[in-house]
Amino acid sequence: MAELRLANPLDLAAVRAQFPGLNQQVNGMPLAYLDNAATTQMPLAVQEAMRHFEQHDRANIHRGMHALSQRATDDFERARQALERFVGAGPGHELVFTSGTTDALNLVAGGLSSPGTVPAWIRPGDEIIVSGLEHHANLVPWQQAARRCGAVLRILLPDGQGRLHAEDLARLLTPRTRIFAVTACANATGERPPYEVLLALAADAGALTVLDAAQAVGHEVPQLSALACDLMAFSGHKMLGPMGIGALVGRREALDRLVPLRFGGDMVEWVGWDEARFNDLPSRLEGGTPNVGAAVGLAAAAAFIGEVGREAIDAHVRALRAKAAAGLAAIEGVTVLAPNSSASAIVSFAAAGVHPHDIGTLLDEQGIAVRTGHHCAQPLLDHLGLGSTTRASFALYNTFDEVERLRIGVERALKLLR
Ligand code: PLP
Repeated sequence: MAELRLANPLDLAAVRAQFPGLNQQVNGMPLAYLDNAATTQMPLAVQEAMRHFEQHDRANIHRGMHALSQRATDDFERARQALERFVGAGPGHELVFTSGTTDALNLVAGGLSSPGTVPAWIRPGDEIIVSGLEHHANLVPWQQAARRCGAVLRILLPDGQGRLHAEDLARLLTPRTRIFAVTACANATGERPPYEVLLALAADAGALTVLDAAQAVGHEVPQLSALACDLMAFSGHKMLGPMGIGALVGRREALDRLVPLRFGGDMVEWVGWDEARFNDLPSRLEGGTPNVGAAVGLAAAAAFIGEVGREAIDAHVRALRAKAAAGLAAIEGVTVLAPNSSASAIVSFAAAGVHPHDIGTLLDEQGIAVRTGHHCAQPLLDHLGLGSTTRASFALYNTFDEVERLRIGVERALKLLR
């Protein structure tokens, strides 16, 4: 695997120095943090940006005439602009802050299926297509939306290896297809679907297209202007940023179709006793006091990723995934999911006759943090004929030595457990 090291231009020592939390012992062993698909660690630069905001500029935004309120408003709006640039938003796009991907996808599915001043955008008999690779956050809200509107939910099922195919989507699309929702990377398997092609196909058929970018923004960063994508969701805590912040970014006309789900301060232009007129985007969808400090931190995380270099990060995590997948697949009785995926940071595997929770516990004893379970993708793992799996996921600060420790750790765990 030496060639993988040569392909890696990241200065890992310098990168890791930004994440002091990595430099600790767990159960007497150096921590190998391989649970980045759940939540990444946060660099000092992000912590410092948030500390600066909280110490100097903390105030409520938009409504205050005083200096701190103005500075907080400027910080918040600067963060919005920085994140729009980060995801390649163009002049026709708008970014709405949310508490994360789940919140953003609920806003989309709820906002298109709830009655407002106009009938809900999804009508009885319409069809919603959701890919079979989705996290529950991009499935359950659509189940609810379909039920609310009397629409039909169709699933674009993956093949036996967990791959999505454009031909299958072409067969599902009809003149009644109103929505197509897909992930940029399946968190449970590490499959990176050809979402560019799928979104374009669905958009050509007249569907509103939704991309769940939660597992891509930490390294691949889908560029909105280059995609046939109406709405895209992501979370800060999966891209080196704080928890409790994320975004829904998309075409203004698509965002305009969403009925607000949170009514109250900041999202209204005028209020009478019996009715209210709502603000324009993005405020219309951002009712209540937002998490301004976290928005500042998220913009700092995007800047950090930009400074380290997206291409370098992407190449690094892909190489880690490739090494991990090859090493794990070589262990007897281990099945690596999405074996051909070459563009993700996630490797998920099942070991015949052994429960993933036991593997996870034994790895933790060796200081190796992985995630076990169904990864909020129960129907997908059922469809693939698997129960729960063990998942290791990588970020820019992980090393090839950690991948080797994972392989040895799994081998040891299986010897003990079989
Ligand atoms: N979508 C995908 C693909 C995910 O991996 C996750 C979280 O693991 C989510 C959505 C939900 O993200 P959050 O919990 O930050 O809302």
